[in-house]
Amino acid sequence: MLDQGAVGPAYVRCAEGFALAAIIAAGAVAARALSLIGALSATVEGGLVFAFGGLGVAGAMVAFFGSSSVLGRLGGKQAEEIRARSAKGGRRDALQVLANGGVAAACAVASAVVRAHGAEHTPLAPDPWLTAAIGALAAASGDTWSTEIGALARGPVRSVLTGRAVAPGTSGGASLIGTLAAPLGGAFVGLIGALLTHPHAWGWVPTALVAGLAGSAFDSLLGASLQAVWRCEVCGRVDEDRAHRCSGGISSGPARTLTLERGLAWMDNDSVNALATALGAALGFTLAFV
Ligand SMILES: [Zn+2]
Repeated sequence: MLDQGAVGPAYVRCAEGFALAAIIAAGAVAARALSLIGALSATVEGGLVFAFGGLGVAGAMVAFFGSSSVLGRLGGKQAEEIRARSAKGGRRDALQVLANGGVAAACAVASAVVRAHGAEHTPLAPDPWLTAAIGALAAASGDTWSTEIGALARGPVRSVLTGRAVAPGTSGGASLIGTLAAPLGGAFVGLIGALLTHPHAWGWVPTALVAGLAGSAFDSLLGASLQAVWRCEVCGRVDEDRAHRCSGGISSGPARTLTLERGLAWMDNDSVNALATALGAALGFTLAFV
């Protein structure tokens, strides 16, 4: 049994959750890990997760955002350039925060809705919706660890689809060290979540390990296939980012000179991340019954 409901009425937990999330988000803004609007988004997500998912899921979320920010600062100029290309690193904006934590927040709310409707018929512990939230966070974490640690790698980066060598930081590219980092990133958030849940939900660790690997692999697969790649008509640069500035330093205005090179126009990095966390949630939910 998860220790839910024993911590006071819902509105008190909500107030506590938003206050706690706001303090952490303010710290992240001060550390330049979040933009102001990203912090607002993180406060809403974090508040919902703490109020409805409990300390374990909230701790897993903090472990994900915290470890991602720390890893994103490692390495020198080369790693920085790779991260700039992958459009994943750096300060997180609102959409990035939503893409990475939105599914987990929705799962936490779903668990509370199910509990409120008297889910006595699901005596299985831990709650599958909370395991789904852990799976979503593990997928996001696995993918981010893989990207950030992969940016430090010196070895070759290959497309997961064609096996051809690609530039480091290219979506759909995978290095050996980045691939190994994915399950670790997942297991890390699962471990923090398990430690902060009473009684400890140790089953979350292997589930999160699997979700971390699967989330990262799915992200790479989408990155190599359906993710939009744009070509600039002015400078010829091919980029995943729609907010393009010509290499010559001349601002070309967003999107006006960009044509779709391949992929689906709406499938940007945030959509790919959101889909990968949805897969992590589905895996978490399913594995809760194993
Ligand atoms: Zn250009």
